[in-house]
Amino acid sequence: WPMTLHIPFDNSYAALPDSFYARVRPEPVTAPSLIAINETLARDLGIDGLDDPNLAAIFAGNAIPEGASPLAQLYAGHQFGQYNPQLGDGRAVLLGETVGRDGIRRDIQLKGSGRTPFSRMGDGRAWLGPVLREYVISEAMHALGVPTTRALAAVRTGDRVVREQPLPGAVLTRVARSHLRVGTFQVFAARGEAQALQTLFDYAVARHYPEATDPATFLNAVMRRQAALVAHWLSLGFIHGVMNTDNCSISGETIDYGPCAFMDSYHPETVYSSIDRYGRYSYAAQADIIVWNMAQLATALLSLMPDPEAAVEPFTAQVHAMPDMIRAEWLRRFAAKIGIADPKPEDAALIGDLMTLMQTAKADFTNTFRGLIDGTARDQFADPTGFDRWSNIWQDRIKSEEDPQGLMSAANPVLIPRNHQIEAMIAASVAGDDSLFARLMSAYAAPFDANPDFEDLRLPPAPEEVVQATFC
Ligand code: AMP
Ligand code: MG
Ligand code: MG
Repeated sequence: WPMTLHIPFDNSYAALPDSFYARVRPEPVTAPSLIAINETLARDLGIDGLDDPNLAAIFAGNAIPEGASPLAQLYAGHQFGQYNPQLGDGRAVLLGETVGRDGIRRDIQLKGSGRTPFSRMGDGRAWLGPVLREYVISEAMHALGVPTTRALAAVRTGDRVVREQPLPGAVLTRVARSHLRVGTFQVFAARGEAQALQTLFDYAVARHYPEATDPATFLNAVMRRQAALVAHWLSLGFIHGVMNTDNCSISGETIDYGPCAFMDSYHPETVYSSIDRYGRYSYAAQADIIVWNMAQLATALLSLMPDPEAAVEPFTAQVHAMPDMIRAEWLRRFAAKIGIADPKPEDAALIGDLMTLMQTAKADFTNTFRGLIDGTARDQFADPTGFDRWSNIWQDRIKSEEDPQGLMSAANPVLIPRNHQIEAMIAASVAGDDSLFARLMSAYAAPFDANPDFEDLRLPPAPEEVVQATFC
């Protein structure tokens, strides 16, 4: 059939050396059917012909659009602290890149599209649950203002994927500023492939940090974006769940949504991921782990230096400066949450005092902060004595602020994608009903608005609805 969908591909990764990837086509699926297409994003990317009757076949990987150069990228990475010398796209294929209406180059990738030379023991597939979780959460993160990969399409494959039980298969089309990871640098550094590492560095600089022409400046630029990103996550109660170095993007976007989750009641050690048994990637640990990940990037970048030995000390000093960057970003974000525009160092204690009260009271993270705007935060505390005392000091502090309400309204969402809603949505879609998916997508598109249609989505889970663990 004639394909009317037109993706204006302009591929640069496929022009890099052969050793960076394996050329591989998506494996066809039996009976593709479209769950969702993100028309706004598609238009922003310069895609047209969205009335194509065969969108499902295209976004399942059964039909390759003109101009694509399908490939699976090579990378390595530390998984839970252990170096794995070869990971790579084991169930994803990069179709190519487009330069959007904003002038930004973005990857278009199918995830769950079948086996590749990097699949190891895996089947190359994804099941519907994680595909829809990534679709909804990544788009919600975008609406929340967090740098993130996006979701362009989701399709059912018509095939079963065997996990603990047979489950419906699906493919996600993901859009990213790039899929360069810390692990992409690690693989060439660990192999001692100096020329490839230099080529990768030049590519990453040109694509993401044109102002950073030497490795030290580049490292600093990546650290800045990651510090801002993780502070932003913390400010929303987001827990990535698998901050392995292969899931840590060079561009500073949130990437690879697996068993991620937003916290309901506040506790700094919260973990949802079923595979994170020791809490390495708990809520609060994220601020330390990102420094560890940047230390791995620094180590890989050392090989680019004419005298790597001599660079160890300055690179180490740079990484040691990162916790202060994160603290500054954290303070800025959390100060805004309590209505302070230009925080003083001592405001950190004011924020910390509130969070200690929240932890003790098991207060809902999102509803407490949002409730500071209209006074309902107090309802989160069974015994409000401590909160009232805190509130007096706080009221006093924000007297001199110009627009605390405005700041708080923009920093404290009404809605976050709560685990129990996500799980209910997945269960409905597994049973063939995508109406919950559609409802969540419309609700989370405007997470800072109090929309009477979505009041129920503000509620934390009832005891029997609490999700203890997320799986991917
Ligand atoms: P992740 O934990 O999803 O970031 O994946 C880590 C590595 O495992 C990556 O190299 C993935 O491509 C690979 N992988 C995960 N699931 C599968 C699968 N079902 N089949 C093949 N490779 C997979
Ligand atoms: Mg190759
Ligand atoms: Mg990954």
